[in-house]
Amino acid sequence: MAAEGTQRPAWAEVDLGAIRHNVRVLAAMAAPAKLCAVVKADAYGHSAVPVARAALEGGATELAVALVDEGLELRDGGVTAPVLVLSEPAVDAMRDTFDRQLVPTLYTGAGVAAARSAGRALGAGSSRPRVPVEVKVDTGMHRVGAAPGEVRSIVELVAAAPELDYAGLWTHFAVADRVSDGFTSEQVALFEAVRAELKAAGLPEPRRVHAANSAGTIAWPASRYDMVRCGISVYGYVPSREVVPALEAELARVEMGPLRPALSWKAKVTMVREYEAGERLSYGRGAPLADRAVVATVPLGYADGVPRGYFSAGGGVLIGGRRRPLAGMVTMDQIVVACGPGSGVREGDETVLIGSQGGETITADEWADLLGTVSYEIVTRIGRRVPRQFTDSGEGDPS
Ligand SMILES: *Cc1c(COP(=O)(O)O)cnc(C)c1O
Repeated sequence: MAAEGTQRPAWAEVDLGAIRHNVRVLAAMAAPAKLCAVVKADAYGHSAVPVARAALEGGATELAVALVDEGLELRDGGVTAPVLVLSEPAVDAMRDTFDRQLVPTLYTGAGVAAARSAGRALGAGSSRPRVPVEVKVDTGMHRVGAAPGEVRSIVELVAAAPELDYAGLWTHFAVADRVSDGFTSEQVALFEAVRAELKAAGLPEPRRVHAANSAGTIAWPASRYDMVRCGISVYGYVPSREVVPALEAELARVEMGPLRPALSWKAKVTMVREYEAGERLSYGRGAPLADRAVVATVPLGYADGVPRGYFSAGGGVLIGGRRRPLAGMVTMDQIVVACGPGSGVREGDETVLIGSQGGETITADEWADLLGTVSYEIVTRIGRRVPRQFTDSGEGDPS
């Protein structure tokens, strides 16, 4: 069934019970560290506000976003929990950041200055409490953050600012999903060295420190510190196959069931046609059909986030409880699916692109493997034309 307000029978289902369950499991693993649910990019395509609420119900103590705008969307949706912005807000966005109780990450002198003047304009440190800010150290990801040699000057500026409350110091891992890569340990060691240097310089301690993403949480217990920042695992996916043994050991330790993928992506067949052997389908008129075929048209395409390469990669979908390959190139709005003669596929049949049907399951990991990417990219690219519906399978009991 399409969501209200849309005419096209195509939608994504987000199981909020799975989100709560996954957060509960991850929080148990991370304890006594707290769990921050990362809900950037519209909660990895799952819909930020409902997922944020479910994550908080499941035991997350706070949320993180990439952009100030994403934080504002949570506030507009009535979410009152702490929200950390993972990059330094633009100078012009600093006022909104504090106005709406978002916590910015800072790592440049210009950022600290902008935060100070926005804080001052709001009376922070005089008519109202100081505004919390966190400082990010670049220990090797080399994307954003203060270089180890610059952190001290940034922390000095923050600690000396009467408007600012030095609430946290953190870093981010580049390869925590590769369990045998020693670089994560090097990042932790560098983070420790920076903390020691700040302490030796007589600077105040941050109220908390954090480093771990999902992979850190699962595979690098020493990186859990005061809080972990979990994204992909909240949605029920492992950050990489390599962390699966560590995840299984952790699940056994906390005596809880496996992570559950929260998202299913579905549509209904809009047309069924039979073609003779030798016919070529869709744009590019690909390889001729080897046999007479029944072909179902399904109303989702690359404008919705089905990668154009899914056909040539050998991708498929589930119809009638069976896995069926695409029969031609993915188009902007539709795909064609080879169902074979005698399949009994009919207009209106439910098609599962990601999720389960009958005994079969197609996961975002399977898509990612075929397409040479990661589940993150598959789920975040499911487009805005696809309405999200919310289901709730409950949380599942500890096994
Ligand atoms: C996205 C992000 C995370 C979450 O990463 P996952 O691998 O999805 O758990 C954590 N921290 C930062 C800084 C991020 O940008």
